[in-house]
Amino acid sequence: MENANEVVSKNFIEQIIDKDLAEGHYKTIATRFPPEPNGYLHIGHAKSILLNYGLAKEYNGKFNLRFDDTNPTKEKEEFVDSIKKDVEWLGADYEGRLFFASDYFEQMYEAAVKLIKKGKAYVCDLSADEIREYRGTLTEPGKDSPYRNRSVEENLALFEDMKAGKYEDGAKVLRAKIDMASPNINMRDPVIYRVAHMTHHRTGDKWCIYPMYDFAHPIEDAIEGITHSICTLEFEDHRPLYDWVVRELEYEFPPKQIEFAKLYLTNVITGKRYIKKLVEEGIVDGWDDPRLVSISALRRRGFTPESIKAFIEAAGVTKSQGSIDYPMLEHFLREDLKLKKNRMLAVLDPVKLIIDNYPEGEVEYLEADNNVENPELGKRTIPFCRELYIERDDFMENPPKKYFRLFPGNEVRLMHAYFVKCESFVKDENGKVIEIHCTYDKETKSGSGFEGRKVKGTIHWVAAPFATKAEVRLYENIVDEEKGVYNEDGSLNLNPNSLTVLKECYLEPNFADAKAFDSFQFVRNGYFCVDCKDSTKEHLVFNRIVSLKSSFKM
Ligand code: ATP
Ligand code: MG
Repeated sequence: MENANEVVSKNFIEQIIDKDLAEGHYKTIATRFPPEPNGYLHIGHAKSILLNYGLAKEYNGKFNLRFDDTNPTKEKEEFVDSIKKDVEWLGADYEGRLFFASDYFEQMYEAAVKLIKKGKAYVCDLSADEIREYRGTLTEPGKDSPYRNRSVEENLALFEDMKAGKYEDGAKVLRAKIDMASPNINMRDPVIYRVAHMTHHRTGDKWCIYPMYDFAHPIEDAIEGITHSICTLEFEDHRPLYDWVVRELEYEFPPKQIEFAKLYLTNVITGKRYIKKLVEEGIVDGWDDPRLVSISALRRRGFTPESIKAFIEAAGVTKSQGSIDYPMLEHFLREDLKLKKNRMLAVLDPVKLIIDNYPEGEVEYLEADNNVENPELGKRTIPFCRELYIERDDFMENPPKKYFRLFPGNEVRLMHAYFVKCESFVKDENGKVIEIHCTYDKETKSGSGFEGRKVKGTIHWVAAPFATKAEVRLYENIVDEEKGVYNEDGSLNLNPNSLTVLKECYLEPNFADAKAFDSFQFVRNGYFCVDCKDSTKEHLVFNRIVSLKSSFKM
């Protein structure tokens, strides 16, 4: 991807910032990530987090984490905690700059009063349905509300009464007085405050009027001194309203809104509604089920913040919507793990291999590099003896051409150990192979410089009497890739093979200290991470993070 001659070109947001700084609109920049605490964050949010944080870093500016908690119906403290954890895990350090929009309710109220005093807002008694009717359509202008010309005094009194709880929900709203004939429907006197007798998760019952998003958001930005308020494309049509709010409220350094395209990945589920259903129906094991792409699920599965960051940087920032192939994310994951992780011996689908000419009771301790491509990770020893486990599919009774692993009469290398030759095998009454008998050649020890002959296959193994038993979970996409994510009726097209649980896997005995979130390469089988929910010292549980091979090409 990257090469030394590549000219690093700036994305369109950086170009806007450069221009704003050069023209003196701002002295320094400030960005924010403004989640609504109504669910868990997913990979798409990671893009927004890393983009905002990255810009603040790049320009030596400030980055705020701000909970946009102006809508009391759906918000929960639980989500505040999980979001904080996710942002921190991604490495977006907000350095204590943690804010809640609900802390600004008083200032928002004052801002509304200011607009009323300027003749720029009015209390309207139309019902929600009537407001919709009066609004007009894309092709027809709207009609003025009969309450549009109330006096400033009357509006001030009514708004105060709204605040004091004198009206039922929906009885009155405060609207910005802009232009009912605007070609942009968002500008046709939008509602900026509503009456809602609801308990807020932070302010309790203090307020019974709540500001609407389009009014609240620019005020939050302005209060915090945000310069570039970066959001996703669906807000593009709201930008004139954003600009109207900050202009009418006469902020000295008005923030500016910039939109970019959301990150979409193929064949994954990000919609909260769908994930909620999967969780509630018990199809997945909570919001952090490793098959999901919530940040907590990715963390549990064994993704690293570095890989997510590299992926998001490569995906770039654009204004045009598109989906990125999920394998691209996996590509960056493999790249990140490749040199960092120890390469361990682990047999997922075991069958016994017995070396008939190896002395019974003898044990050798073989030395192995933890990662042949990264000597800094050091070496370890692995016990070797007469009885081993190997992968069931590393043996075939009647192999096809080009099968270089074990079959009667064939010789292979046991990784880090010796050549062994298959002499015979034993089946149980159902015809299942239960033992493979071999002989080994003492001269062929790995690292001994033996050059007598070559073998085409190398397989991995674990010494049976020393093996650690573990559970391993393999994952596929939760939705069927071929058929698409959704069925015609809108239901999810679930992949019945999204989870495979292997209960009897054998690991080399070097996992005594493995703890939640530790990850390893299991040679030939992929990267695996100790599950943070279900793994214990006595019963290790691993999630496969990603397999080793990919069809993905950069
Ligand atoms: P969802 O639609 O998944 O429920 P949301 O947009 O409602 O997400 P918010 O809490 O409002 O969630 O989002 C916080 C920030 O994250 C917003 O600035 C939003 O634009 C941004 N964001 C949300 N989804 C994506 C995405 N897929 N790609 C990039 N940014 C996103
Ligand atoms: Mg939202």
